[in-house]
Amino acid sequence: MMRLPPFTYTAPRSVAEAVRTVADGGPDAMLVAGGTDLYPNMKRRQFEPKILVGLRGIPDLSGVRGEAGSGLTIGAVTTLSSVATHPDVMRHYPALATAAGLVSSPQLRNMGTIGGNVCVDTRCNYYNQSFAWRKAIGFCMKKDGDVCLVAPSSPRCWAVSSSDTAPVLWSLGAHLRVVGPAGERTIPLSALFRDDGIEYLAKRSDEILAEIVLPPADGWRSAYLKLRRRGSFDFPVLGVAVALRMDGDRVAQASIVLGAVASLPRATPKAAAALVGERLTPELITRVAALAAGPAKPLDNTDYAHFYRKKMTRVFVTRALRRLAGLDPDGAPDQEVA
Ligand SMILES: Cc1cc2nc3c(=O)[nH]c(=O)nc-3n(C[C@H](O)[C@H](O)[C@H](O)COP(=O)(O)OP(=O)(O)OC[C@H]3O[C@@H](n4cnc5c(N)ncnc54)[C@H](O)[C@@H]3O)c2cc1C
Ligand code: SF4
Repeated sequence: MMRLPPFTYTAPRSVAEAVRTVADGGPDAMLVAGGTDLYPNMKRRQFEPKILVGLRGIPDLSGVRGEAGSGLTIGAVTTLSSVATHPDVMRHYPALATAAGLVSSPQLRNMGTIGGNVCVDTRCNYYNQSFAWRKAIGFCMKKDGDVCLVAPSSPRCWAVSSSDTAPVLWSLGAHLRVVGPAGERTIPLSALFRDDGIEYLAKRSDEILAEIVLPPADGWRSAYLKLRRRGSFDFPVLGVAVALRMDGDRVAQASIVLGAVASLPRATPKAAAALVGERLTPELITRVAALAAGPAKPLDNTDYAHFYRKKMTRVFVTRALRRLAGLDPDGAPDQEVA
């Protein structure tokens, strides 16, 4: 059995207190919300914080506020179960409800938070292993080693962004309120991510993700499809998030963002641009799906063969667009498992 290393747990009651505590702790301190990703990682010694700053006891960080007409604000420690079953999220931002509802298992969705899901660690077959396993192969540069075992001549880590909700929030144009020792800032969610498997977040470790702000839902349609081996609880090895705003029968605005094909959610601007001003015909959908698959560059460091995941990108973008066009009355399933 893998055990947690010793640490001190603090339970601040306000964001300001949490910011102070994590800043005072310096490199020894880490934030924790539901702990569903961090605690297993600590058991494998991928993270070894001496102080954990728990966010779940801060009332301001929990709950869904506002109305879809003017945009919803979701507190970062709102559980994934609450997001997935919130009536306004289900009705007006269906891709987000789907993505939150497909994370892991019911138990983890009851503990796991949407902020933790956005900030969740990147993954790789050579990294998500016990300490003994990693030691036996000489470790890798993401933790304790100095080479990448996937691409040994590469100066960087290629671990995979594996959040279900991040690609959806990106496609919906969400913003984040981030609070740190220097004050607070609001940034587009797309600006949170870096294309690096180790430094995958463009924020300081003492900055807290406080809120996720969704834009008004007017006229937007959205869908999320997920590929994984075990439908009961696996991480995505491909996620496809599509959001469209229609003007009559033509597309006025579009966004297609892929998950689990790079170290960050991967936007596909050329594919999205090809939709704008057009009717959603089967021919257009086929062309756009091919364009969207271009930027998908999965590597051989997660489940399923990388060429299969690349092929499935085209299939999933086609299915998502056909669903939003109303071309598949029975609908495709939200996830594909083998
Ligand atoms: C068996 C298993 C299956 C899983 N399957 C999936 C899956 O299918 N899809 C998926 O997306 N995830 C999956 N996960 C990962 C995890 O359960 C979810 O991503 C969950 O949403 C993480 O949220 P949390 O609150 O538990 O995060 P935590 O574990 O508490 O934190 C995760 C990271 O985010 C940071 N963090 C948390 N909250 C904040 C905040 N407010 N501000 C700044 N930093 C913060 C922490 O410091 C930590 O680095 C799985 C995990 C397990 C163990
Ligand atoms: S991509 Fe390379 S450096 Fe990154 S976790 Fe995998 S083996 Fe390690």
